[in-house]
Amino acid sequence: MFKILKKEVLAPKTILMETYAPLIAKKAEPGQFIVIRVNEKGERIPLTIADFNREQGTITMVFQEIGKTTNLLGTKNVGDAISDILGPLGNPTETDRYGTVVTIGGGVGIAPVYPLSRKLKSLGNKVISIIGYRSKDFVFWEERMRSSSDELLIATNDGSYGAKGFVTDVLKNLIDKGTHIDRIYAIGPAIMMKAVADLTREYKIKTIVSLNSLMVCGMGMCGACRITVGGETKFTCADGPDFDAHLVNFDELMKRLNTYKKEEKISFEKWKEEVGYGA
Ligand code: NAD
Repeated sequence: MFKILKKEVLAPKTILMETYAPLIAKKAEPGQFIVIRVNEKGERIPLTIADFNREQGTITMVFQEIGKTTNLLGTKNVGDAISDILGPLGNPTETDRYGTVVTIGGGVGIAPVYPLSRKLKSLGNKVISIIGYRSKDFVFWEERMRSSSDELLIATNDGSYGAKGFVTDVLKNLIDKGTHIDRIYAIGPAIMMKAVADLTREYKIKTIVSLNSLMVCGMGMCGACRITVGGETKFTCADGPDFDAHLVNFDELMKRLNTYKKEEKISFEKWKEEVGYGA
């Protein structure tokens, strides 16, 4: 059992939870993820490790309440426990001193961008971060992102905070201004990562994305998270989750992400009825 030490609502339907998991905290690196089961009958879901504190033995997850399991997790409070947390899984994000690096986060994807930006900055890179939210109400971790970046650019879809538009609009402006960029990392919705890849392919800027495929085992055995990268079948969990954005078949990824939408909806509706959720 993993005790919940902190819970914070960061934005609508966006929850931060910190749990005591010293063995995971000891080994976790930016880019890695965990697979959790909220209770012993629960389904397994992957969540990116949004932060970790080796001294305190804690890990932080930031998740969106979307379906049954994430909403069930959202009902847990400080003092409650999560039945199982498996990790750290996946390969750490490859980092080095590249020069000028742009880190891009979209919505909940901003959470894993934070420790990555912090690491890239500590390695001596100039870090320009671009973070995008739907609107001002959804803004979270602005200060954390500012402290881990040399320059922070914010966009909201409706222009209620920062620049109006998508992260890709801000990135295009940056490139068009003549900013030299050695490498880009992007984490967020698949459609955003695809849009970033399409843009940077044109400019031949090396771009790394962290994929959010559906997963079951998280260790390369079940094949649920398979994707096509450079024409080859890869497992997001064991081969990734980071891949060269220009080689990923995003259309296939998005199609596979929607495979169980109908079943997910039925399961969520059934659960809401059972527990009287929202009544
Ligand atoms: P969202 O729909 O609110 O979008 C966030 C931002 O992404 C937008 O504000 C915009 O700037 C950008 N964006 C969206 N659509 C775009 C498009 N068509 N073109 C260019 N930019 C676009 O995001 P959300 O609802 O917070 O969802 C976050 C997503 O991040 C989820 O899909 C989640 O699975 C994913 N995620 C991925 C990881 C990972 O490791 N890969 C980790 C956490 C979250």
